[in-house]
Amino acid sequence: MGLDIKKYPNSILRKKCQEVKEIAPDIKQLINNMIETMEENKGVGLAAPQVGVLKRIIVAQTDYGPKAFIDPEIIKKTKEKEIMEEGCLSFPDLWLKIERAKGVEITALDGNGNKIKAVGFLARILQHEIDHLDGILFIDRISFRQRLKIRKKLKEIEEKYGSR
Ligand SMILES: [Zn+2]
Repeated sequence: MGLDIKKYPNSILRKKCQEVKEIAPDIKQLINNMIETMEENKGVGLAAPQVGVLKRIIVAQTDYGPKAFIDPEIIKKTKEKEIMEEGCLSFPDLWLKIERAKGVEITALDGNGNKIKAVGFLARILQHEIDHLDGILFIDRISFRQRLKIRKKLKEIEEKYGSR
């Protein structure tokens, strides 16, 4: 079932999410719905608060297809950074160049305690989506100068979705 995506400036996007800790059947259902929603909207990543659920769950497109990460945590970041253009399903038609670590190592609740190493595009998605779990949005990661440049576009989004 495709879910409704919460758009900026919905206040739920600013809340901190709770740990899941245990993968109950309703969590599995939520993950399936999130993957469907991501794919329907041609996204490469989606975090639970974007569908109105304050739980630490993200889904992302990987080389092996869509994958869910429950209670993901970044435990290592490369010092090396890179700038890439990002979009966000909660900000229709807004593209921003964001500087982030080039590679990350994360842990997540997957039942076997494996650490996941990611570089390039997946590292980028994971950092963006994990930010969502702490109420951090990609517009928080741009410079003041960049913020001035997108002021008008951001206002348009606020006006379009603000009343919802
Ligand atoms: Zn996003």
